[in-house]
Amino acid sequence: MHIETLLVRSGVGKDPSTGSITTPIYQSSTFQHPRLGESTGYDYSRTANPTRTALEDAIAVLESGAAGFAFSSGMAAIAAVFNLFKNGDHLIVSEDLYGGTYRLLSDILQDIGVSVSYVNTANIDAVKEGVQSNTKAIFIETPTNPLMQVTDIAAMVEISQQHQLLTIVDNTFLSPYCQRPIELGADIVVHSASKYIGGHNDVIAGLVVTRCSELGEKVKFYQNAIGAILGPQDSWLLLRGVKTLGLRMEKHQENALKIAHWLVEQPDVEHVYYPGLETHPGYEIMKKQSSGFGGMLSFSVRDENLVPYLLENLKLITFAESLGGVESLITFPARQTHADIPEEIRNAIGVTNRLLRFSVGIEHADDIIQDLKEVFDAYRK
Ligand SMILES: *Cc1c(COP(=O)(O)O)cnc(C)c1O
Repeated sequence: MHIETLLVRSGVGKDPSTGSITTPIYQSSTFQHPRLGESTGYDYSRTANPTRTALEDAIAVLESGAAGFAFSSGMAAIAAVFNLFKNGDHLIVSEDLYGGTYRLLSDILQDIGVSVSYVNTANIDAVKEGVQSNTKAIFIETPTNPLMQVTDIAAMVEISQQHQLLTIVDNTFLSPYCQRPIELGADIVVHSASKYIGGHNDVIAGLVVTRCSELGEKVKFYQNAIGAILGPQDSWLLLRGVKTLGLRMEKHQENALKIAHWLVEQPDVEHVYYPGLETHPGYEIMKKQSSGFGGMLSFSVRDENLVPYLLENLKLITFAESLGGVESLITFPARQTHADIPEEIRNAIGVTNRLLRFSVGIEHADDIIQDLKEVFDAYRK
Protein backbone atom coordinates (compact mmCIF):
# COMPACT_ATOMS: atom_id res chain seq x y z
CA MET A 1 0.00 0.00 0.00
CA HIS A 2 1.08 3.59 -0.55
CA ILE A 3 2.18 5.79 2.33
CA GLU A 4 -0.92 8.02 2.03
CA THR A 5 -3.13 4.98 2.63
CA LEU A 6 -0.97 3.62 5.45
CA LEU A 7 -1.17 7.00 7.18
CA VAL A 8 -4.97 7.05 7.08
CA ARG A 9 -5.14 3.46 8.33
CA SER A 10 -3.06 4.30 11.45
CA GLY A 11 -4.85 2.83 14.47
CA VAL A 12 -8.00 1.97 12.48
CA GLY A 13 -10.00 -1.15 13.34
CA LYS A 14 -8.08 -2.10 16.46
CA ASP A 15 -11.12 -2.70 18.67
CA PRO A 16 -13.12 -5.71 17.42
CA SER A 17 -15.28 -5.76 20.56
CA THR A 18 -17.07 -2.56 19.47
CA GLY A 19 -15.96 -2.00 15.88
CA SER A 20 -14.78 1.48 16.83
CA ILE A 21 -13.12 3.04 13.76
CA THR A 22 -10.49 4.87 15.76
CA THR A 23 -8.48 3.29 18.54
CA PRO A 24 -10.13 4.17 21.87
CA ILE A 25 -8.20 5.97 24.59
CA TYR A 26 -7.56 3.14 27.09
CA GLN A 27 -7.21 5.34 30.13
CA SER A 28 -6.36 2.48 32.45
CA SER A 29 -3.19 1.98 34.45
CA THR A 30 -3.70 -1.73 34.93
CA PHE A 31 -5.53 -4.70 33.40
CA GLN A 32 -7.35 -7.61 34.96
CA HIS A 33 -5.62 -11.00 34.69
CA PRO A 34 -8.00 -13.64 33.28
CA ARG A 35 -6.44 -16.39 35.41
CA LEU A 36 -3.28 -17.10 37.33
CA GLY A 37 -0.40 -17.13 34.85
CA GLU A 38 -2.54 -15.66 32.04
CA SER A 39 -2.54 -12.18 30.52
CA THR A 40 -4.59 -10.39 27.88
CA GLY A 41 -1.24 -9.08 26.61
CA TYR A 42 -1.73 -6.02 28.81
CA ASP A 43 -0.80 -6.03 32.50
CA TYR A 44 0.36 -2.54 33.43
CA SER A 45 0.41 0.55 31.20
CA ARG A 46 4.10 1.40 31.65
CA THR A 47 4.87 -1.93 29.99
CA ALA A 48 2.12 -1.74 27.37
CA ASN A 49 -1.14 0.11 26.79
CA PRO A 50 -3.49 -0.66 23.87
CA THR A 51 -3.70 2.95 22.62
CA ARG A 52 0.09 3.23 22.71
CA THR A 53 0.43 -0.16 21.02
CA ALA A 54 -1.78 1.00 18.14
CA LEU A 55 0.49 4.03 17.68
CA GLU A 56 3.67 1.96 18.02
CA ASP A 57 2.45 -0.55 15.44
CA ALA A 58 1.47 2.28 13.10
CA ILE A 59 4.83 4.07 13.22
CA ALA A 60 6.67 0.75 12.68
CA VAL A 61 4.66 0.23 9.48
CA LEU A 62 5.12 3.85 8.34
CA GLU A 63 8.90 3.69 8.78
CA SER A 64 9.17 0.14 7.34
CA GLY A 65 10.67 -1.17 10.59
CA ALA A 66 10.15 -4.24 12.78
CA ALA A 67 9.08 -2.47 15.97
CA GLY A 68 7.99 0.97 17.14
CA PHE A 69 8.05 2.64 20.56
CA ALA A 70 6.40 5.77 21.88
CA PHE A 71 7.99 8.02 24.50
CA SER A 72 7.00 11.08 26.48
CA SER A 73 9.16 13.35 24.29
CA GLY A 74 11.61 13.27 21.42
CA MET A 75 14.44 13.61 23.92
CA ALA A 76 13.17 10.62 25.93
CA ALA A 77 13.14 8.61 22.69
CA ILE A 78 16.70 9.67 21.83
CA ALA A 79 17.85 9.01 25.41
CA ALA A 80 16.41 5.49 25.22
CA VAL A 81 18.42 4.85 22.05
CA PHE A 82 21.59 6.27 23.62
CA ASN A 83 21.19 3.69 26.40
CA LEU A 84 22.46 1.17 23.85
CA PHE A 85 25.95 2.65 24.38
CA LYS A 86 28.32 2.05 27.27
CA ASN A 87 31.42 3.49 28.87
CA GLY A 88 34.25 3.41 26.29
CA ASP A 89 32.02 3.57 23.21
CA HIS A 90 32.43 6.30 20.59
CA LEU A 91 29.78 7.90 18.38
CA ILE A 92 29.99 9.93 15.17
CA VAL A 93 27.29 12.59 15.18
CA SER A 94 26.19 15.27 12.70
CA GLU A 95 27.82 18.52 13.87
CA ASP A 96 24.83 20.73 13.07
CA LEU A 97 22.55 19.01 15.52
CA TYR A 98 19.33 19.65 17.43
CA GLY A 99 20.45 21.52 20.58
CA GLY A 100 18.74 19.11 22.99
CA THR A 101 20.54 16.15 21.46
CA TYR A 102 23.82 18.05 21.72
CA ARG A 103 23.11 18.76 25.41
CA LEU A 104 22.30 15.10 26.10
CA LEU A 105 25.52 13.99 24.44
CA SER A 106 27.82 16.64 25.88
CA ASP A 107 26.44 16.86 29.44
CA ILE A 108 25.20 13.35 30.14
CA LEU A 109 26.62 10.77 27.74
CA GLN A 110 30.17 12.10 27.83
CA ASP A 111 30.02 11.94 31.66
CA ILE A 112 29.27 8.24 31.58
CA GLY A 113 32.25 7.71 29.28
CA VAL A 114 30.71 7.72 25.81
CA SER A 115 32.87 9.89 23.55
CA VAL A 116 31.45 11.81 20.61
CA SER A 117 32.97 13.25 17.43
CA TYR A 118 30.90 15.99 15.81
CA VAL A 119 31.47 15.63 12.09
CA ASN A 120 30.02 17.32 9.04
CA THR A 121 28.24 14.15 7.91
CA ALA A 122 27.44 15.77 4.55
CA ASN A 123 31.16 15.09 3.92
CA ILE A 124 31.43 11.31 3.45
CA ASP A 125 35.24 11.29 3.70
CA ALA A 126 35.11 13.15 7.02
CA VAL A 127 32.84 10.41 8.39
CA LYS A 128 35.16 7.65 7.12
CA GLU A 129 38.14 9.37 8.74
CA GLY A 130 36.22 9.74 12.00
CA VAL A 131 35.70 6.02 12.53
CA GLN A 132 37.74 4.69 15.49
CA SER A 133 38.21 1.15 16.79
CA ASN A 134 35.61 1.83 19.52
CA THR A 135 33.06 3.58 17.27
CA LYS A 136 29.62 2.03 17.68
CA ALA A 137 27.25 4.23 15.70
CA ILE A 138 26.71 7.09 13.26
CA PHE A 139 23.89 9.38 14.38
CA ILE A 140 22.62 11.81 11.78
CA GLU A 141 19.97 14.40 11.16
CA THR A 142 19.20 15.06 7.50
CA PRO A 143 18.45 17.77 6.65
CA THR A 144 20.10 19.27 9.72
CA ASN A 145 18.66 21.76 12.12
CA PRO A 146 18.91 24.66 11.37
CA LEU A 147 21.39 24.77 8.46
CA MET A 148 19.58 22.20 6.31
CA GLN A 149 22.70 20.26 5.42
CA VAL A 150 21.94 17.01 3.65
CA THR A 151 23.66 13.72 4.47
CA ASP A 152 23.67 10.78 2.07
CA ILE A 153 21.94 8.09 4.16
CA ALA A 154 22.99 5.18 1.92
CA ALA A 155 26.63 6.29 2.13
CA MET A 156 26.41 6.33 5.95
CA VAL A 157 24.89 2.83 5.89
CA GLU A 158 27.77 1.62 3.72
CA ILE A 159 30.36 2.96 6.18
CA SER A 160 28.41 1.46 9.09
CA GLN A 161 28.23 -1.94 7.45
CA GLN A 162 31.99 -1.95 6.80
CA HIS A 163 32.72 -1.25 10.46
CA GLN A 164 29.72 -2.94 12.11
CA LEU A 165 28.21 0.30 13.38
CA LEU A 166 24.58 1.23 13.83
CA THR A 167 23.16 3.93 11.57
CA ILE A 168 20.68 6.05 13.51
CA VAL A 169 18.64 8.76 11.79
CA ASP A 170 16.65 11.54 13.47
CA ASN A 171 13.89 11.76 10.84
CA THR A 172 11.92 14.56 12.54
CA PHE A 173 12.36 17.14 9.76
CA LEU A 174 11.03 15.09 6.85
CA SER A 175 8.75 12.51 8.51
CA PRO A 176 8.11 9.07 6.99
CA TYR A 177 5.94 10.71 4.35
CA CYS A 178 9.04 12.14 2.66
CA GLN A 179 11.92 9.96 3.86
CA ARG A 180 12.17 6.39 5.20
CA PRO A 181 15.76 5.77 6.30
CA ILE A 182 15.21 2.09 7.22
CA GLU A 183 14.38 1.40 3.56
CA LEU A 184 17.84 2.80 2.78
CA GLY A 185 19.49 0.49 5.32
CA ALA A 186 19.42 2.51 8.56
CA ASP A 187 19.06 0.53 11.81
CA ILE A 188 17.11 2.96 13.97
CA VAL A 189 14.90 5.97 13.25
CA VAL A 190 13.98 8.46 15.97
CA HIS A 191 11.39 11.21 15.89
CA SER A 192 10.30 14.15 17.84
CA ALA A 193 6.64 13.42 17.15
CA SER A 194 5.92 16.81 18.71
CA LYS A 195 6.67 18.12 15.22
CA TYR A 196 5.24 16.88 11.87
CA ILE A 197 3.80 13.57 13.07
CA GLY A 198 1.58 15.25 15.67
CA GLY A 199 1.40 18.23 13.35
CA HIS A 200 -0.82 20.58 15.36
CA ASN A 201 1.51 22.06 18.00
CA ASP A 202 -0.52 20.37 20.74
CA VAL A 203 1.49 17.38 21.98
CA ILE A 204 5.04 16.51 23.11
CA ALA A 205 6.03 12.98 22.10
CA GLY A 206 8.88 10.87 20.76
CA LEU A 207 9.07 7.73 18.64
CA VAL A 208 11.70 5.08 17.93
CA VAL A 209 11.54 2.51 15.14
CA THR A 210 14.06 -0.31 14.80
CA ARG A 211 14.95 -2.19 11.65
CA CYS A 212 15.12 -5.59 13.37
CA SER A 213 13.31 -7.14 16.30
CA GLU A 214 16.53 -7.81 18.29
CA LEU A 215 17.22 -4.08 18.51
CA GLY A 216 13.52 -3.62 19.20
CA GLU A 217 13.76 -5.92 22.23
CA LYS A 218 16.59 -3.79 23.64
CA VAL A 219 14.67 -0.54 23.17
CA LYS A 220 11.56 -2.14 24.68
CA PHE A 221 13.60 -3.16 27.72
CA TYR A 222 14.79 0.43 28.28
CA GLN A 223 11.33 1.84 27.61
CA ASN A 224 9.82 -0.32 30.36
CA ALA A 225 12.82 -0.06 32.71
CA ILE A 226 13.11 3.75 32.56
CA GLY A 227 9.40 4.36 32.05
CA ALA A 228 9.40 7.55 29.95
CA ILE A 229 6.37 6.28 28.05
CA LEU A 230 3.73 8.21 26.13
CA GLY A 231 0.33 8.28 27.85
CA PRO A 232 -2.85 7.05 26.15
CA GLN A 233 -4.31 10.53 25.51
CA ASP A 234 -1.17 11.74 23.78
CA SER A 235 -0.84 8.46 21.87
CA TRP A 236 -4.37 9.05 20.58
CA LEU A 237 -3.52 12.62 19.57
CA LEU A 238 -0.64 11.31 17.46
CA LEU A 239 -2.86 8.67 15.83
CA ARG A 240 -5.31 11.47 15.07
CA GLY A 241 -2.61 13.80 13.73
CA VAL A 242 -0.68 11.34 11.59
CA LYS A 243 -3.65 10.51 9.35
CA THR A 244 -3.33 13.87 7.57
CA LEU A 245 0.49 13.89 7.49
CA GLY A 246 0.51 13.36 3.71
CA LEU A 247 -1.81 16.28 2.98
CA ARG A 248 0.01 18.52 5.45
CA MET A 249 3.50 17.73 4.14
CA GLU A 250 2.42 18.42 0.55
CA LYS A 251 1.17 21.86 1.55
CA HIS A 252 4.12 22.58 3.87
CA GLN A 253 6.61 21.90 1.10
CA GLU A 254 4.65 23.67 -1.62
CA ASN A 255 4.58 26.77 0.60
CA ALA A 256 8.22 26.40 1.67
CA LEU A 257 9.44 26.28 -1.94
CA LYS A 258 7.41 29.33 -2.90
CA ILE A 259 8.63 31.29 0.12
CA ALA A 260 12.26 30.18 -0.37
CA HIS A 261 12.16 31.51 -3.95
CA TRP A 262 10.68 34.78 -2.72
CA LEU A 263 13.22 35.17 0.10
CA VAL A 264 16.14 34.66 -2.33
CA GLU A 265 15.01 37.85 -4.13
CA GLN A 266 14.88 40.06 -1.03
CA PRO A 267 17.70 42.59 -0.61
CA ASP A 268 17.68 42.21 3.20
CA VAL A 269 18.23 38.46 2.96
CA GLU A 270 21.78 37.22 2.72
CA HIS A 271 21.25 33.49 2.24
CA VAL A 272 18.35 31.03 2.07
CA TYR A 273 18.90 27.47 3.26
CA TYR A 274 16.28 25.22 1.67
CA PRO A 275 17.20 21.85 0.12
CA GLY A 276 14.42 22.24 -2.48
CA LEU A 277 16.36 25.06 -4.15
CA GLU A 278 18.40 23.69 -7.05
CA THR A 279 21.36 25.75 -5.85
CA HIS A 280 21.38 23.91 -2.50
CA PRO A 281 24.43 21.58 -2.30
CA GLY A 282 22.26 18.70 -1.05
CA TYR A 283 19.56 19.03 -3.74
CA GLU A 284 20.57 15.96 -5.80
CA ILE A 285 21.00 13.73 -2.73
CA MET A 286 17.60 14.80 -1.45
CA LYS A 287 16.05 13.91 -4.81
CA LYS A 288 17.64 10.48 -4.54
CA GLN A 289 16.70 9.63 -0.96
CA SER A 290 13.48 11.47 -0.19
CA SER A 291 10.22 12.12 -1.99
CA GLY A 292 9.99 15.76 -0.93
CA PHE A 293 11.98 18.64 0.53
CA GLY A 294 9.90 19.31 3.62
CA GLY A 295 8.58 22.49 5.16
CA MET A 296 11.64 23.75 7.06
CA LEU A 297 13.89 26.51 5.84
CA SER A 298 16.36 28.91 7.37
CA PHE A 299 17.59 32.26 6.18
CA SER A 300 20.18 34.76 7.26
CA VAL A 301 19.65 38.50 7.06
CA ARG A 302 22.37 41.04 6.29
CA ASP A 303 21.71 43.24 9.29
CA GLU A 304 21.74 41.72 12.79
CA ASN A 305 19.28 44.41 14.01
CA LEU A 306 16.67 43.15 11.59
CA VAL A 307 16.39 39.93 13.62
CA PRO A 308 14.63 41.37 16.71
CA TYR A 309 12.63 43.72 14.49
CA LEU A 310 11.29 40.78 12.48
CA LEU A 311 10.56 38.63 15.52
CA GLU A 312 8.63 41.42 17.22
CA ASN A 313 6.70 42.73 14.22
CA LEU A 314 5.55 39.69 12.29
CA LYS A 315 1.81 39.28 12.76
CA LEU A 316 0.84 35.97 11.17
CA ILE A 317 4.11 34.10 11.58
CA THR A 318 4.48 33.43 15.29
CA PHE A 319 7.75 33.86 17.16
CA ALA A 320 7.92 30.55 18.99
CA GLU A 321 10.09 27.48 19.33
CA SER A 322 9.17 24.16 17.77
CA LEU A 323 8.24 23.30 14.21
CA GLY A 324 6.19 20.99 12.06
CA GLY A 325 2.73 22.19 13.05
CA VAL A 326 0.10 23.68 10.77
CA GLU A 327 0.88 27.20 12.06
CA SER A 328 3.93 29.06 10.70
CA LEU A 329 6.53 29.54 13.44
CA ILE A 330 9.82 31.40 13.36
CA THR A 331 12.72 30.96 15.79
CA PHE A 332 16.10 32.43 16.48
CA PRO A 333 18.34 29.34 16.89
CA ALA A 334 21.35 31.18 18.38
CA ARG A 335 19.30 32.31 21.38
CA GLN A 336 16.77 29.49 21.61
CA THR A 337 17.15 25.93 20.33
CA HIS A 338 20.94 26.20 20.00
CA ALA A 339 21.72 28.40 23.01
CA ASP A 340 23.53 25.50 24.69
CA ILE A 341 26.11 25.36 21.92
CA PRO A 342 29.08 27.68 22.64
CA GLU A 343 29.08 30.82 20.46
CA GLU A 344 32.41 30.10 18.77
CA ILE A 345 31.17 26.64 17.69
CA ARG A 346 27.87 28.18 16.56
CA ASN A 347 29.62 30.80 14.45
CA ALA A 348 32.00 28.23 13.00
CA ILE A 349 29.11 26.08 11.78
CA GLY A 350 26.99 29.03 10.64
CA VAL A 351 24.38 29.31 13.42
CA THR A 352 25.09 33.03 13.70
CA ASN A 353 23.16 35.88 15.27
CA ARG A 354 21.74 36.68 11.82
CA LEU A 355 20.15 33.28 11.19
CA LEU A 356 16.42 32.60 11.53
CA ARG A 357 14.69 29.25 11.28
CA PHE A 358 11.29 29.14 9.72
CA SER A 359 8.77 26.31 10.06
CA VAL A 360 6.48 27.07 7.14
CA GLY A 361 2.85 26.35 7.97
CA ILE A 362 -0.09 25.43 5.78
CA GLU A 363 -1.67 28.89 5.60
CA HIS A 364 -1.98 30.50 2.16
CA ALA A 365 1.58 31.13 0.93
CA ASP A 366 0.69 34.67 -0.20
CA ASP A 367 -0.44 35.61 3.32
CA ILE A 368 2.85 34.35 4.76
CA ILE A 369 4.84 36.29 2.14
CA GLN A 370 2.76 39.42 2.77
CA ASP A 371 3.55 39.21 6.50
CA LEU A 372 7.29 39.08 5.80
CA LYS A 373 7.09 41.76 3.11
CA GLU A 374 5.37 44.26 5.40
CA VAL A 375 8.08 43.89 8.02
CA PHE A 376 10.95 44.13 5.55
CA ASP A 377 9.36 47.26 4.00
CA ALA A 378 8.74 48.91 7.37
CA TYR A 379 12.32 48.22 8.49
CA ARG A 380 13.83 49.88 5.44
CA LYS A 381 11.80 53.08 5.96
C1 LIG B 1 12.32 18.91 18.67
C2 LIG B 1 13.39 17.98 18.22
C3 LIG B 1 13.90 17.00 19.08
C4 LIG B 1 13.46 16.87 20.52
O1 LIG B 1 12.14 16.46 20.63
P1 LIG B 1 11.15 16.90 21.85
O2 LIG B 1 9.86 16.27 21.45
O3 LIG B 1 11.13 18.37 21.90
O4 LIG B 1 11.73 16.30 23.10
C5 LIG B 1 14.87 16.15 18.57
N1 LIG B 1 15.31 16.25 17.30
C6 LIG B 1 14.85 17.19 16.46
C7 LIG B 1 15.38 17.26 15.07
C8 LIG B 1 13.87 18.08 16.89
O5 LIG B 1 13.44 19.03 16.05
